[in-house]
Amino acid sequence: MKQLTLNNGQQMPALGLGTWENNGDDCITSVQQALEMGYRHIDTAQAYGNEEFVGEGIQQADVPRNEIFLTTKVFRNQFETKEKAINSVEDSLKKLNTDYVDLLLVHWPFPEYGIEQLIEPMLEAQQKGLTQNIGVSNFTVDDMAQAQKCSGGKICLNQVEYHPTLSQKPVLDWIRDHDWIMTAYSPLGRGEAMESDVLKDIAATHDKSAAQVCLRWLIQQDNVAAIPKASSKDHIKSNFEIFDFELTEQEMQEIFKLTEQENRIVDPDFAPEWDNARQAA
Ligand code: NAP
Repeated sequence: MKQLTLNNGQQMPALGLGTWENNGDDCITSVQQALEMGYRHIDTAQAYGNEEFVGEGIQQADVPRNEIFLTTKVFRNQFETKEKAINSVEDSLKKLNTDYVDLLLVHWPFPEYGIEQLIEPMLEAQQKGLTQNIGVSNFTVDDMAQAQKCSGGKICLNQVEYHPTLSQKPVLDWIRDHDWIMTAYSPLGRGEAMESDVLKDIAATHDKSAAQVCLRWLIQQDNVAAIPKASSKDHIKSNFEIFDFELTEQEMQEIFKLTEQENRIVDPDFAPEWDNARQAA
């Protein structure tokens, strides 16, 4: 398993299991199965309403807690006061049945509050030992620069949508320049990315699936992790089988070409004004 080094020196597995829209027994089973297959990185969020099921899946798997990299996210509306945000983290830990998470993220910026109001409770959560690392999600380049400044360099990661039909070049360039990590969410484009003939042709060359090529393309890039969501056992297993082959530079570039489509899937009305690779070029 490829590991990425966070800015405090801690390692994060480059591949994790996403759990959005995975609830109840299905969530428990998929988290347990993933851990038993070798996954060591699980992604959840307060807003997914499944932290207790993720916690139960971890309990049921025969894997020590300290071998698991667990991420949760504080939803943007919890930052009204520092106390409210910290209480929400303590609540998350109870549901997850753990004393700490490995990574805590600000789940979406909230312009009305300003970046400092979002970052201060995160620093406090880290000081209190509720989380090992702190990061953000869906932050633009400007948001990241502000977060970097007001956290004194403590933020280590931005989780954003990234897959073969969305470039994210401005965000990635900034991340690499500042030694952050990008976690790619919706890394399979919720299934859309896998429909591409380019991916299918490359997959045939390697005797792999288009989904495996898609994930391999992501984790083969510097500073990039990916958290595909899978609830079926076959998907969970095959998404993990991406460490026994390598894409050539030409294949990597063929897939990069697809990112020019700028096909963004997750774009709620409260989303920030995204950085656009076409305008930046
Ligand atoms: P995704 O991982 O790109 O796609 C998930 C879909 O692909 C599911 O329908 C899944 O089906 C299917 N799939 C998984 N593996 C497959 C395979 N090998 N072959 C064919 N289909 C496959 O989309 P996502 O759930 O949006 O993103 C992943 C994770 O990122 C989320 O679960 C969540 O943890 C995180 N996320 C974060 C944010 C944020 O704002 N920070 C936003 C969105 C997502 P089955 O379930 O049937 O296996």
